[in-house]
Amino acid sequence: MKKIRAHHLICFSRHHDTGWYSKDYEKNFKAIFKDIIKNPNQKIKIKRDCEDICKKCPYVKNKTCNKPSKYKINHWVKVMDNKTLRLIKIKPDTIHTAKELLKLVSSKITNKDLRNICKGCEYLPNCLRLGINKSVKKIIK
Ligand code: SF4
Repeated sequence: MKKIRAHHLICFSRHHDTGWYSKDYEKNFKAIFKDIIKNPNQKIKIKRDCEDICKKCPYVKNKTCNKPSKYKINHWVKVMDNKTLRLIKIKPDTIHTAKELLKLVSSKITNKDLRNICKGCEYLPNCLRLGINKSVKKIIK
């Protein structure tokens, strides 16, 4: 079963293949995204710490996010996770289908919420401009 931290559900729902932290990170993210789109009924455990996406990220160290930022990023990513969980009304460490989770983030999280949750993320302008990913739209309709 995949483990995904809450705010990465937003990254999936707004995935547009623009900008990556490293080649390994990109390869891993795309493989997980592709598998989720192919098998939307698979179960996912929701996390508030480093998980299957972070494990190939150049910023992960000792299972903690160390991405440099003007915010204290490990604290900040947890805030992002908490804000996401509050909006979609899901508790950490619970298990849901990928389809259910993508439906929730796509319908409950608006551009206004995104500006608040993803403040400081370099990919935010693209996520705001391009909206929900086409493949995600297909599986949640
Ligand atoms: S930047 Fe931090 S939260 Fe994002 S994938 Fe990398 S380690 Fe995980």
